[in-house]
Amino acid sequence: MKTTDLHILGGGPAGLTTGYYAKKHSLNFTIFEAGEHAGGNCRTLKIKGADCRPCVSQSGDFRFDTGAHRFHDKDPQVTEEVKNLLGNDLLQVEAPSEIFFEGKFYRFPLLLSDLVEKLETKTLLKIAWENLYSSPKKQVENFEEFAINQYGKTLAERFLLNYSEKLWGQPPCNLSTAITGNRLKGLDLRSFLRSTVLGTPQNPKHLDGSFFYPRHGIGMISDKVCEFIGDKHIKLKHRVNRLIHKNEKIERIVLNDDVEIPVATVINTLPLTLSVRMLEPAAPPELCAVADKIKYRHLVLCVFCLNRDTFSSNASLYFPSEEFPFTRLYEPKNRSAEMAPKGQTAVVLELPCYSDDAVWNMSEAALQTEVWEALQCVKPLLPEEVIHYETYKLPFAYPVLEVDFEENVTRLVTYFKRFENLHLTGRSSLFRYLHLHDLFKAGREVVEQIANV
Ligand SMILES: Cc1cc2nc3c(=O)[nH]c(=O)nc-3n(C[C@H](O)[C@H](O)[C@H](O)COP(=O)(O)OP(=O)(O)OC[C@H]3O[C@@H](n4cnc5c(N)ncnc54)[C@H](O)[C@@H]3O)c2cc1C
Repeated sequence: MKTTDLHILGGGPAGLTTGYYAKKHSLNFTIFEAGEHAGGNCRTLKIKGADCRPCVSQSGDFRFDTGAHRFHDKDPQVTEEVKNLLGNDLLQVEAPSEIFFEGKFYRFPLLLSDLVEKLETKTLLKIAWENLYSSPKKQVENFEEFAINQYGKTLAERFLLNYSEKLWGQPPCNLSTAITGNRLKGLDLRSFLRSTVLGTPQNPKHLDGSFFYPRHGIGMISDKVCEFIGDKHIKLKHRVNRLIHKNEKIERIVLNDDVEIPVATVINTLPLTLSVRMLEPAAPPELCAVADKIKYRHLVLCVFCLNRDTFSSNASLYFPSEEFPFTRLYEPKNRSAEMAPKGQTAVVLELPCYSDDAVWNMSEAALQTEVWEALQCVKPLLPEEVIHYETYKLPFAYPVLEVDFEENVTRLVTYFKRFENLHLTGRSSLFRYLHLHDLFKAGREVVEQIANV
């Protein structure tokens, strides 16, 4: 075996993009994926029209992504790569997002004119005062302080702190500022208010509802990458159980608790906490204790296929209030018309949770009832409009970036660095808030590094 022979653990976007560049460099490689499909948490699932309640004419299938995805145009080289892969199937979408709070819809990102129209004068004055005259802290220690600094207490409490607590399952004072993943850049209301009221220059960066999206869902990107890679390089239903090491090298891996194979170079994309426990000989107990401290958030998706043309015009609708069990609703059809049969639509509700939360362990029927009741408060629907319901569980959806996560993650990642033939990449493996474009870039870099040695 040569050092350029790659064993890639995990067939999510991180594993697939590594395989994509390995193929481009004509390297030998195999991807081991535990599930029946490649694509990890970045797939598009299909509900056949014929499987829906047959009282309506069906003219196609419903498709939904494993959580509301869009392709971010952040790295020109990656965007070009994805454009080449998808051709005309990469659509430019214009769809705004909104926040639903106390019975009203607010534009997201927040817009001053929208707030003026919808909030009481007293509240507006409070927001203006907090944003224009309070002096922001020079150094913020956690997300709560960051949000208050950025927006003032009133706005932060209404729209951000409650939402973050629901999404991450932690009080915002326990969360690192890294949870913003730069998404709040350009959303600084303070600079916007200053520019409007005082005439000082405005922060030009402002997010809007314009983004790239594949015609048949985000999973098309993984599908095209798989097509390019070729089936023989992807071993589905091959769960990695153990990483056997000697002399600071991973020597063998164990698959499906059965087969042991020798390895040359290992690219590991599996969750960091699982990887620590797979080591044989075992990692030092203090390191396992560090692994116990870091958490991943899972996601339950509740999908209602509806016999109505549309539910809303939004890309995403956010729900910061506790009374709603979900944090976000998205309507796949508003990203691409081909995500639903003509005249019909689907809504997907996202419920973040930990594996020991009631939501993760609830029956499909109980979830359907709970979510349906909450949905009625957003927009009343008739029971007969629901032609199909489905629940989908997404493990390891988000690394939970608590205030001390960096120190813990660094300790684990540093430990793995001792294995000279092992590379970590991917969202759960590096415990970083990475997106698809980041993973393309990471895949390219790791392969170039190995190919050029
Ligand atoms: C709700 C949501 C919305 C998102 N929105 C966006 C977005 O708009 N734009 C964007 O770019 N990104 C978005 N992302 C992020 C994107 O989905 C992730 O960056 C991506 O899925 C991470 O890929 P990965 O390969 O690192 O991990 P994963 O996708 O988690 O893949 C890991 C793979 O490893 C496999 N595996 C696990 N254990 C084993 C084992 N023991 N042996 C073998 N295989 C194993 C799993 O089955 C899985 O296939 C979103 C994510 C979520 C959850």
